[in-house]
Amino acid sequence: MNQKILKTEDEWKKELTLEQYKVLREKDTEAPFSGKFYLSKEKGVYKCAACGNELFSSDTKFDSGTGWPSFCDVLPGAVELKTDTSHGMQRTEVLCAKCGSHLGHLFDDGPKPTSKRYCINSLSLGIKKNNTAD
Ligand code: FE
Repeated sequence: MNQKILKTEDEWKKELTLEQYKVLREKDTEAPFSGKFYLSKEKGVYKCAACGNELFSSDTKFDSGTGWPSFCDVLPGAVELKTDTSHGMQRTEVLCAKCGSHLGHLFDDGPKPTSKRYCINSLSLGIKKNNTAD
């Protein structure tokens, strides 16, 4: 994996929109069905909205019905997992392995064969579409 990206919160604040900052750096969750990617069927690679790290292939995206973009697998080494006990729940937090930004949570009720459901905020994502330079 490439080198980690370390920035101060002031630097992140300048680079991100307020909405993105709240989710990526303060672990907020966007309202379900509000994000731009939950219904997206675009082909390409989903990237971290903060640092551009490539995270999920569109081939692993599925419609979970939750209102958040959901993936049954992740690109190798792209994310780090952390136990999250906030809000009186025990969940697994998904963080960008490169910049440490909050992406969403991981659940074990996804489709076979992985049974994984990476439940990710649209605000934490960008997309590099197939057949485009960027
Ligand atoms: Fe990142």
